[in-house]
Parts: sequence; structure tokens; C-alpha cells
Amino acid sequence: MNRIAVGKGVKVGAHIYKVRTGQHITDRLKEGSFYGRTYHSEEKLIMLDSKLPETQFSQTFLHEVIHAVDAIYLGSSLREKQVVGIANGLAQVMEGLGVRFIK
Ligand SMILES: [Zn+2]
Repeated sequence: MNRIAVGKGVKVGAHIYKVRTGQHITDRLKEGSFYGRTYHSEEKLIMLDSKLPETQFSQTFLHEVIHAVDAIYLGSSLREKQVVGIANGLAQVMEGLGVRFIK
């Protein structure tokens, strides 16, 4: 399995989305029952629950990246259900190719 660390952030369009993990982030996410969240305001930010099992972390990362791609390239036109489906399908393809995203 190729484990790719995402802590340095990801570039989407002209923007860098910082990736934040850790206990403080996990606590904040839990307040809203989230595994991940993405903020598209001036500071682009993806927050991820680093306590998730590795495969679920990878899938959640992809889910949040798709939210970022949707915001930058599609004017936030995707519905949550579509994001879930694309992310789950892409996560399966990535796992099949031996690619997993880790903190
Ligand atoms: Zn979502």
C-alpha cells in the first residue's frame, strides 16, 4: 500500500487547502458529529478526525477534497449525496490501486 501523507495540504485550483488534524480538531469535529469539515473562506482549511481507522481517514480526506473541488470548480453545486457517492467510489478505486491517504 502506498501511504501518502496529506498533512502539508492540497492545491485545488489556485488555492492551497491546509489540512489540520489532532486532538483539538477531533474534539471540534465531534461537537457536530463530523469526521471531517472543509472551510472555503479566506483561509482554505480541511479538518480531519485523525482517530479514524486508516481506510476511513483516507475516504474522509477524499470526501473533503471533493467538497473543495466542488467549491472551486463547480460553484458548490454538488449535493451532499453526490459528494458521498463520488468520494466512496473514488476511495474504493484508490484502495484498489494501492493508494491510501494518511495524516
Ligand atoms: Zn460532506
